Amino acid sequence: MRKLIVAANWKMNKTPEEAGIFVEEIKSGIADANADVYVFPPFLALQTVSDVLKDTDVKVGAQNMYIEDKGAYTGEISADMLQSIGINSVIIGHSERRQIFKESDEMVHAKLIKALSKGMTPILCCGEDLETRENNKFMDFINSQIKSAFADVSESDACKVIIAYEPVWAIGTGKVATGEQAEQVCASIRSTIEEMYSKETADNIHILYGGSCNVGNAKELFSMPDIDGGLIGGAGLKPEFVDIVHCKEK
Ligand code: PEP
Repeated sequence: MRKLIVAANWKMNKTPEEAGIFVEEIKSGIADANADVYVFPPFLALQTVSDVLKDTDVKVGAQNMYIEDKGAYTGEISADMLQSIGINSVIIGHSERRQIFKESDEMVHAKLIKALSKGMTPILCCGEDLETRENNKFMDFINSQIKSAFADVSESDACKVIIAYEPVWAIGTGKVATGEQAEQVCASIRSTIEEMYSKETADNIHILYGGSCNVGNAKELFSMPDIDGGLIGGAGLKPEFVDIVHCKEK
């Protein structure tokens, strides 16, 4: 039985001070959930948010990291640096990184391998843009993103990855995928994992939905058989996140 996972990706929002105030406000609400809860603040707020949440089970993660341990990579942050302040989870391949910062499938794959080699929990994002959806090529597109990311990942590492299916046309647009649309893709991702590994790994791996998820649609989405929770952007910056975390309990 897979446990519900609800994760907030704050993107480039909140100073350390604002992050500290907000997380104090939602702390008791997210700490007592019947779910694994993750918060992904900007790098500068990681320490503050970790300090506030230190006596809870809520996990604090990074939104990105680089593939090398150290060196001449101006502006980058390594897994070792994150782990030195107790950060052990990381979002990899978010569509904003792929589109705005031109991260290729190869780079996403290398980041996944690095995170796993460091014992971190990667949240691996995949998802199609509007054109690919409208051309009805989305299933092949997403499954090729999955195959490329998981190439050379061992079966024992594969089930440590949390996959987030995030249709690009639904991110920050208010245009949410229906439960059926999201389920169709998440079920297909699970079949791809079964093909690559085994039924056991496919049954154990967590697959989240992300894209304009909010308190009004989370319960329907998270109740689909192959959707194990959500990666939440905009609504993760608001007190509403607490209700999303608890949505299946009501
Ligand atoms: C995201 O960026 O991961 C996301 C799901 O954003 P939003 O919920 O704002 O669509």
